[in-house]
Amino acid sequence: MAGIYIHIPFCKRACHYCDFHFSTSLKYKDDLIQAVIKEIKLQKNYLDGETVETVYFGGGTPSLLSADEISVIVNTITGLHTVSANAEITLEANPDDLSNEKLQALRQTDINRFSIGVQSFFDEDLEWMNRAHRANEAEASVKRAQDIGFENITADLIYGYPLLTDQKWKHNLEKIFGLDIPHVSSYSMTIEPRTALAAFIKTKKQPPMDEQQSAEQFMLLMETMQAQGFEHYEISNFCKPGNYSRHNSNYWRGVKYLGVWPSAHSYNGDTRQWNVANNAKYIAALAKSEIPADTEILTETNRLNEYIMTSLRTMWGLDLKKLENIAGGAAAELGKSSSEFFEKGWLSQKEDTLFLTKTGKLYADHIAASLFF
Ligand code: SF4
Repeated sequence: MAGIYIHIPFCKRACHYCDFHFSTSLKYKDDLIQAVIKEIKLQKNYLDGETVETVYFGGGTPSLLSADEISVIVNTITGLHTVSANAEITLEANPDDLSNEKLQALRQTDINRFSIGVQSFFDEDLEWMNRAHRANEAEASVKRAQDIGFENITADLIYGYPLLTDQKWKHNLEKIFGLDIPHVSSYSMTIEPRTALAAFIKTKKQPPMDEQQSAEQFMLLMETMQAQGFEHYEISNFCKPGNYSRHNSNYWRGVKYLGVWPSAHSYNGDTRQWNVANNAKYIAALAKSEIPADTEILTETNRLNEYIMTSLRTMWGLDLKKLENIAGGAAAELGKSSSEFFEKGWLSQKEDTLFLTKTGKLYADHIAASLFF
């Protein structure tokens, strides 16, 4: 079982908080498509012939690709790999790209899941973020996708930024529930270095993010989602029973994946590699049939720590028996380091599995880092 991630390296405009790799110029789109086709062919053995269960178009803004361009990429993959008959094929999309015409065209492709970047249902908030869409487009795009027959939809929402009062946050969540979608991903606004938002805060044009507000809105998110029958299956991900993102769940289970296009990461169990985050350098390397990637060989410790980090973030928790099988006696150390988190009520244990409590989820990264080998 394996996955393929395709990182679309362009966007219409730069959201103020975003540090993903993208260019706002589409000038080299055709060259990039030729290059990615070549990369997929050159990397055909990366997954050791394992069946591809999921394909994920992320980015960047994948909905800037035409249906034909998406089909060319998917057909290249299906021509080189065994792709499962019920593969999950997700396209991240921005609401302003999902016109009726575009959706009809996408219906003819193999895309069977949408991840729609809603973020907020308030125009002033979307403007503050420098998003390209408006609030009414967010709602309309989800409804249009559903009318055309796409049922497997997830929406992204952001919380924890200065304009978002608790009242507005409740409104955004109510709007999402009204759309009757089976999956929601929700993230606290974080300040990444080298973003416009970081510069605004540094020059005092914007206030810093308020950690207390973010924590309270995360608590509200968890309670409201639970009350609406959503499973909180990963820190930032909620779904109606069984509607997990198969692609992302496989990342957390350590399933192999190949990432293509600039800045995409790949993982094959032994190594991690990441492509150059520069469109021109990427095109130039592929013209010489070279993969412009750096590689890190994963040590036993890397793998253990990654398991601690990812498993604790999920509702399936950290399996101590599994850890003991890999780390042997060293796993006992984890028992010592975790005791303070039990005392604080941030960790709980059921049989051989450790879980973050609701409050513990606020400190997930800190707890995981403290348990690292
Ligand atoms: S659309 Fe997405 S990837 Fe593009 S700038 Fe905005 S947040 Fe970043």
